[in-house]
Amino acid sequence: MRNSNRRIVLAERPVGMPDETTFRLEENPIPEPGPGEILMRADWLSLDPYMRGRMIDTPSYVPPVQIGEVMVGATVGEVIKSNNPAFKEGDWVEGRFGWQDFGIGGPADMRKIDTGDLPKSLALGTLGMPGNTAYFGLLDVGEARVGDTVVVSAASGAVGAVVGQIAKASGCHVVGIAGSQEKIDYVTKELGFDACINYKDCADTNALTKALNDACPDGIDVFFDNVGGWVFDAVLPLINIRARVVICGMISQYNLTAPEMAPRTTRHFLVKRAKMQGLIVFDFESRYPESLERLTRWVKNGDIKYKEDITTGLENAPAGFTRLMEGKNFGKAVVKITSD
Ligand code: NDP
Repeated sequence: MRNSNRRIVLAERPVGMPDETTFRLEENPIPEPGPGEILMRADWLSLDPYMRGRMIDTPSYVPPVQIGEVMVGATVGEVIKSNNPAFKEGDWVEGRFGWQDFGIGGPADMRKIDTGDLPKSLALGTLGMPGNTAYFGLLDVGEARVGDTVVVSAASGAVGAVVGQIAKASGCHVVGIAGSQEKIDYVTKELGFDACINYKDCADTNALTKALNDACPDGIDVFFDNVGGWVFDAVLPLINIRARVVICGMISQYNLTAPEMAPRTTRHFLVKRAKMQGLIVFDFESRYPESLERLTRWVKNGDIKYKEDITTGLENAPAGFTRLMEGKNFGKAVVKITSD
């Protein structure tokens, strides 16, 4: 076991795409847990697009990371010291411990996990925050129903792949939007999506609208958007009366240095009496037991499959994050922190 704690801190606020100057690797003593706290040794770190938002000092639904502070992030690891009777050494937990080898915290910072025969890292993906996002975003915010046509962008990703598979299990016609032929083959041939469009093959917004029109002969009832930008604009002309547009994320905008000019699209909402609603997964925290129970069942019975994009070594987490920001990840982005 390591005898020091490596941690990655925010060194500079990035302008545009984060790079090696954004982060700094530090080595510190292993922290000691206080009364009621535990010490966990992290095995897996989650890399998520929301982390880009934490690097800028702009008002949001949570405060930003300060310069010199450890980067925020969820980790999965083993309890190696406990001052809390609810957790014992050898328990596995998932919590917000940040980009580091070891974390200390109390019950409010973590949950115990038991993934059984499934990989523990799934607690960061399909059986964790991204899975919960897909579940509540599609079923509660998107109100998906049997027979609906559901379109989801970033379809092969951590959230998108789960959205599409829950929609299939719920009796919907499911069409994805993704950025490579490999991703398209995966969601259609392995995950059972009815169709998937490569937006990078479309010369412009109109070409993507046309391709989606062919794949959605009955129009679109639920649009679960993870990317924003021109892809979002291309979908809107196809929404049906009383469609639901779920604003989950807008990754295409996160690294822009100036706001992108866009066509005015509100007309589609008026004409179609549609609704658009933003989604923050933490609003559903009290119902995570429900979503995690159902997601676990779906994974175990094969209705939901998963794929991970693994970076090895904590020191490589910044490079893994850049891969995610560039859309090069194929599956849930995670870092295997330890090599043992
Ligand atoms: P993914 O695993 O989907 O990875 C991101 C993917 O986005 C890339 O692989 C890429 O796939 C796609 N993408 C599309 N356009 C771009 C672009 N311009 N630049 C880079 N990538 C692009 O990530 P997640 O599933 O973790 O997150 C998906 C979205 O959901 C994000 O916007 C995230 O912020 C949001 N989110 C929101 C939550 C909430 O509570 N609202 C909670 C969790 C996530 P492709 O090759 O197909 O383009």
